[in-house]
Amino acid sequence: MTIEPNEPIVYNHILVRFGELSTKGKNKKDFIKRLYTNVKNALSPYQKLTYERTHDRMYILLNGEDGEAVANVLKNVFGISSFSLAIRVPSQIEDIVAMGKRVAMEDDAQTFKIDTRRSDKRFPMISDEVNRAVAGAILKATSMKVDVKHPQLRLQIEIHETDTYLMKGRIAGSGGYPVGVGGKAMVMLSGGIDSPVAAYLTMKRGVAIECVHYASPPYTSARAQEKVLELARMVSGYQGHIRIHIVPFTDLQLAIYEHCDESYAITIMRRMMYRIAERLAKQQGALAIVNGESIGQVASQTLESMAVINSVIQMPVIRPVAAMDKLEIITLAKKLGTYETSILPFEDCCTIFTPKNPVTKPAIDKAEKMEQRFDYESLLDQCLQGITTMEIDPIAKTEEDEEYF
Ligand code: ATP
Ligand code: MG
Repeated sequence: MTIEPNEPIVYNHILVRFGELSTKGKNKKDFIKRLYTNVKNALSPYQKLTYERTHDRMYILLNGEDGEAVANVLKNVFGISSFSLAIRVPSQIEDIVAMGKRVAMEDDAQTFKIDTRRSDKRFPMISDEVNRAVAGAILKATSMKVDVKHPQLRLQIEIHETDTYLMKGRIAGSGGYPVGVGGKAMVMLSGGIDSPVAAYLTMKRGVAIECVHYASPPYTSARAQEKVLELARMVSGYQGHIRIHIVPFTDLQLAIYEHCDESYAITIMRRMMYRIAERLAKQQGALAIVNGESIGQVASQTLESMAVINSVIQMPVIRPVAAMDKLEIITLAKKLGTYETSILPFEDCCTIFTPKNPVTKPAIDKAEKMEQRFDYESLLDQCLQGITTMEIDPIAKTEEDEEYF
């Protein structure tokens, strides 16, 4: 590629740096492959983009697409530590120096620093010699000064075998692992504040999710369900697609209120939710259940309650917000953009039959005895058979997206 001296510089590439790779050791190959797929899925609306990758970097060629719009999408893809808009030149010292000089001359900075990284050690100059060559040209052509501690312009140069990338600035990525490298979990998604945050934190650890929602029509309205679907759509962008299972929970819930003591109704209702979640998770190949429980938040979330509720299933239950306080969860929900939807005042199945004095320290034998008063197994079967499954897609789907499921 030759760039005529008078053409304005166009940052026509994005260089993507991977996150958290060092801790994953042998899984590095999976990590990169998955990240590559996820980035392409997330950017599928930008059809002119093309992609290249090496063992530790990924390059996106803009081909005329809007770099800023692409950057906004990349910020939400887990597994990226940072990325930069870049200009590509051939790996020849004359080209590198000429482009470094032009970048500096187009910038208003008074001070600068050059940071060269050589990924191809066969390049005939070491990094420091490249730094000096480029800095020398800039000092000659401009009135800028070198400042190694607090430069206004930090020009990064990455030399690879045939191409070299020049960049200024670095945009932070979301970190974490690419969604899908860590298997799949079933998230209990309510209309509240906590569970969308739990879903986000789970995906950030590389775990793909499906969601289960318990609805109790006509006690819960169609609008309450719309709200849950909207929350699912809001977090679906992090993995490109979300499947949500809506469980018809009314009959089971009414039976609980008919046969069990009021103070144990919530405990038993949650034991039923766990049982359904586990069976559904197994059906769908999910390895764990995730929910938005936070220690001490309500009566059913004391450690004693959690133990009695959790005891009905074997599968691990991940509670990403268990040790966060409500304000921390709210801050995260606001950052994700789910907060405003979560606080819409539509009734949830938990809020409808709220007993006056829910037990905070339930006894497991009491819960078991109450459950023996009715045939909950056939009601559980009914719930599972009545499930409606929906696919939530924030963006156009590509074939590779199918690989998640
Ligand atoms: P809030 O944000 O107001 O606490 P919440 O949705 O977290 O609301 P909780 O009663 O605290 O409601 O329920 C704890 C967890 O149980 C939720 O975070 C969610 O994971 C799960 N859960 C509760 N209700 C439902 C439901 N109707 N469908 C699916 N999961 C639910
Ligand atoms: Mg909660």
